[in-house]
Amino acid sequence: MTDTGFSASEIDTGTPHSARMYDWFLDGKDHYPADVEAAEKIVELLPDVKETAWSNREFMHRAARFLAHRGVRQFLDIGTGIPTEPNLHQIVQGVAPEARVVYVDNDPIVLRHAEALLRSTPEGRTAYLHADVREPERILARARKHLDFDRPIGLSLIALLPFVADGHDPYEIVATLTEPLAPGSHLVLSHVTGEFQPEIWDRVDAVYRAGGTPVKARSRAEVTRFFDGLELCEPGVELATRWRPDPEAPVRRDQPLYVGVGRKP
Ligand code: SAH
Repeated sequence: MTDTGFSASEIDTGTPHSARMYDWFLDGKDHYPADVEAAEKIVELLPDVKETAWSNREFMHRAARFLAHRGVRQFLDIGTGIPTEPNLHQIVQGVAPEARVVYVDNDPIVLRHAEALLRSTPEGRTAYLHADVREPERILARARKHLDFDRPIGLSLIALLPFVADGHDPYEIVATLTEPLAPGSHLVLSHVTGEFQPEIWDRVDAVYRAGGTPVKARSRAEVTRFFDGLELCEPGVELATRWRPDPEAPVRRDQPLYVGVGRKP
């Protein structure tokens, strides 16, 4: 079911948007000329950005499967993005058909495509909430209608936090979201880093900022801080390509993307 909470504004196709630029990086089809123009500027700065997007997506696949194999049956995925197969529920319901997934994004175009996220197995359940992570209490209140907070939940914030500026206190947001989760819950996140090319990331930020969404690259230490109070699963905060790589999958070049999974004790 789709629970919009408030009416989605019209899609502004003349301004580049992060979700649609990311869709272009993944060779999707839900983007407009303004998105392509901005995305091509990013390719000039980061020629490997498509590989980065795929490394990110493949990390999501591995981490979701990892949690499902650890017995997690409920997921809260914030900053879901435009649907790209396989979506998170397809991965976890492939392991456990009864798994429940609540998706959240604040982009009206993601809302428009939400039906692809809602094709649950009959045994499981999926829901979509149109909401902003900067209002974590509202997300939690609405997610409670679909998920049992007395049992473990996998909270995934994949490639979302770069879009939460320091001024919006991303650490406080993550702490608010993890605080009510039951023991055995997990936080999964990925985050771009400027550690390897700091001068480029100011220019990447400028391209995104022109579209109205600044992007913030963070260091390994800054990414690790999101896991305060949680137990990091092996191998800790690592480059995406080095986090439990699938020996069967094609090897990817290292990308400026830190990832991690932490367990709530
Ligand atoms: N998690 C997906 C998509 C990442 S792209 C993946 O990793 O494949 C980042 C997504 O975060 C976009 O869909 C964008 O619309 C969403 N987003 C950005 N800021 C947000 C906010 N404040 N609240 C909710 N979603 C947000």
